[in-house]
Amino acid sequence: MATQAEVGVSDFVLLDNLTTDNFIENLHLRFQHNKIYTYIGEVLVSVNPYKTLDIYGQQHMAQYRGREMFEVPPHVYAVADACQRVLRQQGRDTCVLISGESGSGKTEASKFIMKYIAANTMQLHREYIDRVKNVLIQSNSILETFGNAKTNRNDNSSRFGKYMDIHFDYKGDPMGGHISNYLLEKSRVVSLQPGERNFHSFYQLLSTNNAHTKKFGLSSSASYKILGNERTTAQDSKLYSLTNSAFSALGFSSSVVDDIWSIVAGVILLGELTFAESADGHLSVGGPVKACVGALGVSQEALQAAMAGRILSAGGDLVSKEHSLSDAHYTRLALAKAAYDRLFTWIVQQINKAIESPQNSYRSSLIGVLDIYGFEIFDTNSFEQFCINYCNEKLQQLFIELVLKQEQEEYAREGIQWTPVQYFNNRVICELVDAPHQGIIAIMDEACLNPTKISDTQLLEAMDKRLSAHKHYTSRQLSPTDKKLKHGVDFRVTHYAGDVTYAITGFMDKNKDSLWQDLKRLLHASRNASLAAMWPEGGAHIQKTSKRPPSAATLFRNSMSALVAGLTSKEPFYVRCVKPNPMQTSAHWDDQLVRHQVAYLGLVENVRVRRAGFASRQRYDRFLKRYKMLSQYTWPNFRGASDKDAVMVLLRDLQLTDVQFGHTKLFIRSARTVHSLEASRAE
Ligand code: ATP
Ligand code: MG
Repeated sequence: MATQAEVGVSDFVLLDNLTTDNFIENLHLRFQHNKIYTYIGEVLVSVNPYKTLDIYGQQHMAQYRGREMFEVPPHVYAVADACQRVLRQQGRDTCVLISGESGSGKTEASKFIMKYIAANTMQLHREYIDRVKNVLIQSNSILETFGNAKTNRNDNSSRFGKYMDIHFDYKGDPMGGHISNYLLEKSRVVSLQPGERNFHSFYQLLSTNNAHTKKFGLSSSASYKILGNERTTAQDSKLYSLTNSAFSALGFSSSVVDDIWSIVAGVILLGELTFAESADGHLSVGGPVKACVGALGVSQEALQAAMAGRILSAGGDLVSKEHSLSDAHYTRLALAKAAYDRLFTWIVQQINKAIESPQNSYRSSLIGVLDIYGFEIFDTNSFEQFCINYCNEKLQQLFIELVLKQEQEEYAREGIQWTPVQYFNNRVICELVDAPHQGIIAIMDEACLNPTKISDTQLLEAMDKRLSAHKHYTSRQLSPTDKKLKHGVDFRVTHYAGDVTYAITGFMDKNKDSLWQDLKRLLHASRNASLAAMWPEGGAHIQKTSKRPPSAATLFRNSMSALVAGLTSKEPFYVRCVKPNPMQTSAHWDDQLVRHQVAYLGLVENVRVRRAGFASRQRYDRFLKRYKMLSQYTWPNFRGASDKDAVMVLLRDLQLTDVQFGHTKLFIRSARTVHSLEASRAE
């Protein structure tokens, strides 16, 4: 079990000569030997193996229970165990922040962590705890059904951000939990990239000719626009059953489950509606209208009216405005997106009701697990990537502050001297996006509030004007020779992880994210009780609804600051996920792709920060236990006052001097020293 017996170094801090090349070589070497986990101190680097490894069973869990991280080979279970130990021994809240690009293994890691935590309980109220474990794990399969999709990067890609708190009682047993969801990629409902699928739920519903599909005239063999070029598979049908059992395990009543699938059917059918303009200029709705209104539980007249026009409140008067053909098309898609998006959030709320800790329980502490989209750079980057990348900026900022803060705090606590390390602080980029009045979000919101309609191009002009001096922002207008930026379309943000060019097209619309009040009223009036409950604002009087809701970017920014504030108060653990190749196979290692991820996850910098102080720190008792056989003065036993004294004697005997003695821990400056200790021990 000694680290030296392993392939490569199991902690990058011990790497002899720290360069990006050496870093990647070590990662590759370990990957080739199925050693997918490696530490940077307490940060876990995980490479997606793209194959099933026999390292997650009960016996493997047992191996990690109550052990210090460096004593056993690196593993995601070690992180889970460390979390739980902090929680039990210090009563502190902890969190695990999992990051990495799409397909790097974040969601799988989050599930292993939950599995470990759920298995590692005191088992006093076995039945109750088994129920809690079961619902926590079942909730994942529902979230994946409604929030995951096959993309070109990952067959089971999470298209939303997820943060889950698991609550523990004073004995350290799980009592319940709470899930927060962030920004579902709702544009997927109505538009797909070639080769990609829509959310799994659509295919699952259509995979069997079940009561729900039959009721609305849907058939597993027919093709539907919303599905793109992809068909349902036998796997979808299996998952459909699993989703339904998960619903029932979580206590969703059968009528609520009916409501949910009806809404999914309704969204599929909205995708099939067509419009025609009669000679007198009136719009009529065609396609499977009856089935669609049946699925959504609304009247045909109401749907027809909501598609054909809208009612505006202008200076206290109600004016009706007829839709053009393209307005109607836009309205139909907006309705489909909004209905699905709201359904997803509502399902999360219902899951939360099912998994919340009992009222009378005393919740003593919690572990939070964050599984959120990684940094995204596509060929065309839009509003969604802008939000996602902003989220990554915020998390990077947190990483910088917490990792450095922790380091410094520990040195202070232990009475150790150190010189702070230089690092790039990305706060300036966060502020480019979220600063009040001057940040991109503020400028967008201002444009959205303007009573005259502002185009995307005008928004870009406003941004150029206000941000021209900012080092991390540019556009063609500000940098006329930059041919990579399209004039009046593109702007570029220099993120900590690299340059990203965003196309402004659609920003205004996506940020406003407004849905005609008519559509809210339509859904609120649904006979489908769950759907009606999802749209309470549809019940407001038409003249009382002029107040504009906060923009999409502002809502996202607010939820990010709440998230970060919550995380700051917890003791963080990090899992940095790396994807070995873009083909989703275990057989290939793409050096360029890995290099890119290592760069933007700041892994080498992370090692440097970690090493700027000390390569290794270990409690005296642990250190002594591990190395006491190296000196005749300490083997088999040391007769002296304290473990610290024993370690001092041991190190004097070994003539090791690049160390500092903290109050409770030994700090070893160079990795070489740790190596040589391990080597002597192996002899
Ligand atoms: P996204 O951001 O798109 O949601 P992700 O980082 O959550 O991506 P996952 O869905 O966790 O990625 O992983 C993608 C796939 O890789 C999984 O469906 C699984 O097939 C495989 N995989 C990930 N981690 C492991 C693992 N530890 N062992 C075996 N296979 C894995
Ligand atoms: Mg995922």
